[in-house]
Order: sequence, then structure tokens, then C-alpha cells
Amino acid sequence: MEAIESIDLFSPQRHERPSPLAVLRDIFGHKAFRGQQADVIEHVAEGGDAVVLFPTGAGKSMCYQIPAICRPGVGIVVSPLIALMRDQVEALEQAGVAAAALNSSLTQEEASEVRRKLRRGELDLLYVAPERVATPGFANMLADTQIALFAIDEAHCVSQWGHDFRPEYRELIHLVELFPGVPRIALTATADPTTREDIIERLGLEQAEVFTTSFDRPNISYSIVERDKPREQLLDFLGGHKGESGIVYCLSRAKVEDVADWLSGKGIRALPYHAGMSAELRSANQDAFLKEEGLCLVATVAFGMGIDKPDVRYVAHMDLPASIEAYYQETGRAGRDGQPADAWMSYGMADVVQRRRMIDEGNAPDEVKRVEHGKLNALLGVCETASCRRQAILAHFGEVYPHACGNCDTCRSPVESWDGTDAAIKAMAAIYRTGMRFGAAHVIDVLVGKETEKVTRFGHQHQKVFGQGKELDTRAWQSVLRQLTAMGLIVVDHANHGALTLSEAAHSVFKRERNVTLRKDRPKKSVEVRRSLARSVDVPEHAKPLFEALREERLRLAKAQGVPPYVIFHDATLKAMALAEPKHPHDLLNLPGVGQGKLDRYGDAFLAVVRGFEG
Ligand code: ADP
Ligand code: ZN
Repeated sequence: MEAIESIDLFSPQRHERPSPLAVLRDIFGHKAFRGQQADVIEHVAEGGDAVVLFPTGAGKSMCYQIPAICRPGVGIVVSPLIALMRDQVEALEQAGVAAAALNSSLTQEEASEVRRKLRRGELDLLYVAPERVATPGFANMLADTQIALFAIDEAHCVSQWGHDFRPEYRELIHLVELFPGVPRIALTATADPTTREDIIERLGLEQAEVFTTSFDRPNISYSIVERDKPREQLLDFLGGHKGESGIVYCLSRAKVEDVADWLSGKGIRALPYHAGMSAELRSANQDAFLKEEGLCLVATVAFGMGIDKPDVRYVAHMDLPASIEAYYQETGRAGRDGQPADAWMSYGMADVVQRRRMIDEGNAPDEVKRVEHGKLNALLGVCETASCRRQAILAHFGEVYPHACGNCDTCRSPVESWDGTDAAIKAMAAIYRTGMRFGAAHVIDVLVGKETEKVTRFGHQHQKVFGQGKELDTRAWQSVLRQLTAMGLIVVDHANHGALTLSEAAHSVFKRERNVTLRKDRPKKSVEVRRSLARSVDVPEHAKPLFEALREERLRLAKAQGVPPYVIFHDATLKAMALAEPKHPHDLLNLPGVGQGKLDRYGDAFLAVVRGFEG
């Protein structure tokens, strides 16, 4: 409650508005603007429209929250999910900002209370669902209210090309007529150029200033491993993340249950999440993920949108995602707090077959299917690249990353390449000679000269190619076939049970008009994941006991209020606290993430913990 007082200085009735920098420092406890935040905020605070295309974790929320606080009136924020609104409102209240949400989860009384506050001009920020905003009813309700701005969060929801299309977002175009003169700011972490253009058009923001920045997420370390024993590989990877929160994505519900069970059996606290579970169980598991520390959530892609948890330390993919966009989006949920985080994927040929089948069995029009196959190919390119993964990902979004990143697996331990032209010709000959009707396993048996039942049944032991590939083992051939698929020389015929066929382009290799360079897969030993790529919040040894004690205090305070620990303080703040050992409230204020509101609320509790440590 005390916290509200300090904010009253900035209440909407006051004539003197605080400066953006003052709000950043005093309320949010940050010391300086990041990247282009200051430009966006200035532009919007002065009444301009803006389109903000920043990656996850860049700090988009500040871009509308600060102008909303600085401008007279209430900032209306359109948000697609109730969970998202709740998170944001909670975090703002913790900082002492007058914020509320209006959505279907409120009781009649709660909703009337919010409306009352709105009428009295007591709110700085109001979060609402898209279907509510652009209606005459809502406009009536706001008739006598001063509006600071409209923020359209997750703006890619307006586009069919994006990954979370929400038809209600299309109605937002009417905000222009309903509320002329009120600045609008649309924000998204979408990197895909088609979706970006669509957003601007669909929201009528052609005149708005567009702010973009690099989509690189420097704190995320990428690695993609060849699938061997996927669960053991996963376990090994998780070994580097003990006590940390993370997400493990699986393609199917059954696999989610399976992997979660298996991990639990291995002593890892893992919970499942997929659309086939009851709503209660799903939300209980999501809640546990947000509010506990060190939980592994095993999920289908049904989980993730609207999860703003800043301290997700890893995202693991047990199956190939649908596209680079999806991969970027899903891995992007790691490390929102800017601290080191790991993105890890295991993949094999079976993924390619499965993904192709999913596309073909879907009921999208042919044109869309072609695009989806193309997107999958682009992702395979990233999986099979012998150079920097980050460069490959960003290149897909039209961004040139000027040098090898040093923070992906291929950069850390460079892969060698070799002239695979002969191998490619043999592999493709084996496919051709066996009638382009068989999957990878059989083709490899033919290459290495294995007389299986299937081989003899089809008489393939009499083919000239039979046993012609003995110089490579099965695993090496798997790699060759995967890479040739990624290059588009081999095509998987999903309509025919994943049979391998040849593309037009294969001819030029047969005729030796082009060479094929392949990446040399790592010897098995080094495929194992390096432990602890991201010993996340790496607190020096001497400060660890205090850091842990501060974490305990945070968890206690969080539980008492039923909020996630990170809305109280981020790990980075606790780390700084453990190092600085503050004695006085003003020492606390100097730490990143401590503003006046949080000082008032939690200063004493944390100072007491620090004092207790002086022994
Ligand atoms: P986005 O919406 O772009 O994914 P958020 O708005 O959630 O990003 O911000 C990501 C994190 O960065 C949050 O924890 C926020 O507190 C922090 N942050 C934002 N702006 C700053 C800043 N100027 N200085 C320090 N931390 C910041
Ligand atoms: Zn790299």
C-alpha cells in the first residue's frame, strides 16, 4: 500500500508529467534506456503512432508503459491472452503503477470496480481483450475518459501469416475512427517480413514510424545434435541446468506424457502440458511452472504463447519444429531476462518424414503446402549447416550477422566438411536403382550390403550398388541422406510412407556438373552436450550462500501473495544484491530492478536477510 504514495506524484490529475527517464528509474528501477526504447517512448509520448519490431526480451513493454504513465489519461493495452494481462498487471502493481485488466475472468463486481476506477481517472494502464476494444460500447464507456494511447501488443495476431492469428485483431482497424487523434503503438517480436508488412496494413499504420532492431538474441546459445539416444541426450543436456526452469517441446501429446514420466523417474521435477489434458490440470501445471523454481515443463507447442516468465533458462526440442520462424519463436522463450540461456534440439531423418506427412495430410490449399515445405527445407538448412547457426537463422529473416557468433555449437566446435560427391552419387544411385520406393533404412542396408529379409525379398542384393557403400557405416549414411535431403537433392515422398525419391537437381550431381560438400558429423563422444553452456546466473562462489538466502526470501514473499517469484525481483537483481551486500535502503535503490515501489514493499525484508548474513 505504501507503494501507491510514491506514484501519486504521477497520478493523472497532476499537471506536471514526469519525464520518461524519471519513470524508468524511479518506478521500474532501471538505470538507462536500452537500444531504441528512448526513441520510441519519446515519439509516442509526443503523440506519434509507432510500430515496434523488437525481439523478445528487448523491453517492448516499457515502450508503451512509460508513455502511458507520462501522458495524461489511461493507456489502453490490447492483449490476446488473459494470462498475459494478469502477468503484466501483477508486475505493474508490484512496481506501484495503477494498472488493471478488463476481461472475461473478472466477476461482475470486479469489472464494475475497474470501470469505476477508469471513470475517475485513477488508472495509468488498462489491459483489455481485442474483441472488447473496437466496439461502440467500449467507445461509449470511454467517452468521458482521457486516453493516453492504444498499445496493440502481440500485433502479429492480426496477420494470417503469423503463428497466432486472432480474427478479433482485425477489428482494431476501427480504433482510428472511434478514437481519432489518440496515438497507437503496435508491438511484436515477429521477424518474418511478410507478417510485418501485413501488420502495418491490417492495422492501418502506414503513417506510423517503424522501429526495428536486430533480431539476434545474443544470450541464447544454439545447439542442434544428431539424434542418437534422444532421452539420454536430453538427460545429459538437463544435467547442465539443475535447479533451473526450462521447457522441453515434443511434437505429440503421447510423447509429452512419456518424456515427462521418464524424466520424473530420473529425479527431475517435470510436468506435462498439452491440449489433451483437462483445463484444470493444464493450468495447475502452468502455474507450478511460473511459481516454482527449477521446474521442467514438457509440452507441445500448445504451451508458450503468453508465457512471459523471464528466467526460462533452456528450451529443448525433442522433435524438429515446423519452420525457422517457429524455432525462433519457441527458443525465444528462453532468457527473456537477458541472462545466458540454452536452445537445444535433437533431430533425425524421421523428423523430416513426419513433418512432411503432417504438411501433406493437413487440409491447407496446395499453395500453402508448398510454402510450408519450403519453410521446412529452410529449417533443415539450419540443422545441417557447417557454419554458424545464428548467421543462418538471422539470414532467413533477411538480416546479415557480420561474423561467426561464437555462441552456437558449430562456432564452439567447428565441423569439418568433406567432398561428398561420390557418396551422394552412390546414395542417389541406390535410391534410383531400388525404384524410389523405400525409406532411408532400406536404402542404407543396400549401400552397406546387408542381406536383410527385405533386401532378398526384392532381390536388391543383385543390384550393382549393393554393398558399394561399405566405406561408410550406417550412421554416416544417415547423415549423408539427411544432408542430401536438406539440399533438396533427395525428396521424401510422404504420400508413399517416406520413400526417398530424387529431385530434378540430382541430375547435375550424377553428371558431375556440381560438387556436393557435406558436413562431417562429430564422432559420437563429442556429440554429447557440453555441460552447462549457460550456468545461467553465475554467481561467484563467495556470494552464493547469500544469493540462495535471498532467493528463499523471494520465494517466501511470492508464495504469501500467490505471485511468481520473478515479479518481486529478477535473478539479476538478487545477484547484484548478493554481491553488493546493501546496508541501507538507498544502497538497494542503486541496484538494477529496484524502484521506489519495490523498495517500499520489500526493502526491509531483503535488507534483513543481508544483515542476517553478516553473522
Ligand atoms: P519484450 O516484451 O520485448 O519481450 P519485456 O518488456 O518483457 O520484453 O522486457 C524484458 C525484460 O527486460 C524485463 O525483465 C524488463 O524488466 C527488462 N527491461 C526492459 N527495459 C529495460 C531497461 N531499460 N533496462 C534494464 N532492463 C530492462
Ligand atoms: Zn555461431
